Amino acid sequence: MLPPMSPVRKKPEAPAVDRGCGLDRYHAKRDFAKTCEPAGTGEVPAAGAGPGRAYVIQKHRAGHLHYDLRLESGGVLTSWAVPKGPSLDPADRRLAVEVEDHPLDYAGFEGSIPEGEYGAGRVIVWDRGTFRPQGEASFEAMLENGSVKIVIAGEKLAGGFALVRTRFAGKKNNWLLIKEKDAHARPGSAVTDESPRSVLSGRDVDDPELG
Ligand code: MN
Repeated sequence: MLPPMSPVRKKPEAPAVDRGCGLDRYHAKRDFAKTCEPAGTGEVPAAGAGPGRAYVIQKHRAGHLHYDLRLESGGVLTSWAVPKGPSLDPADRRLAVEVEDHPLDYAGFEGSIPEGEYGAGRVIVWDRGTFRPQGEASFEAMLENGSVKIVIAGEKLAGGFALVRTRFAGKKNNWLLIKEKDAHARPGSAVTDESPRSVLSGRDVDDPELG
C-alpha cells in the first residue's frame, strides 16, 4: 500500500527576471569605448511625464534578425526580444523574451554595434511612439503580474495589445505579444513585411550606410 499523500507544498514564486535592478545588466554586457549605443548615464526624465510613455520597436540584425520591443517604465525601457516581430493579426501570438532594461535614450538609437560586442549587428528604429496602460492597474503592477494590456500609438502599430507571461518550460522570461481585436487589427496582414524600414531614416536594417 502507498503511504498517505503529504500535503502539496508550493514552491515560492521566483521573482520575474531582475526588474528593479535598473541598468546594471545593460552596463555589464557592453563596453562603451567600443559600441556607440547610449551609455544611459544622463538625466532621466520623470516617469509618466507627458501624454504617454515611450514606446519603440527596433529591428536588429544580430546573429538572427529579431525585433526589440521597449516600453518605458520607472525611468528605463523594459525590453523584450521578439524573434518574429509584432503582428496586427489578433490570431498571431508572438513569442517575446524579456531581456535587460535599456536606458530611455536607447529609443533613438539606430546604427551598427561592432563585431565582437554584445548584440553585434545593425539596428534601426522600426516603429516609435507612445503607449498607455489600459484599465485601473498601473503598468508596473501589470508587469509584475505577467498580464499587460496597453494601447500603442505608433506609426506602424496602433491600438490595443496584450503581453502575457507564460510558464512554458519553467522559464520566467517568456511572454506572448498579441494584438487585440479592435479597429486597428488587420487580420491576415504581415506588418513587418509590408513596412520593413526605419521610421527615422527610411533605411532597412541591411543598409551599409548604418555602418
Ligand atoms: Mn536585440
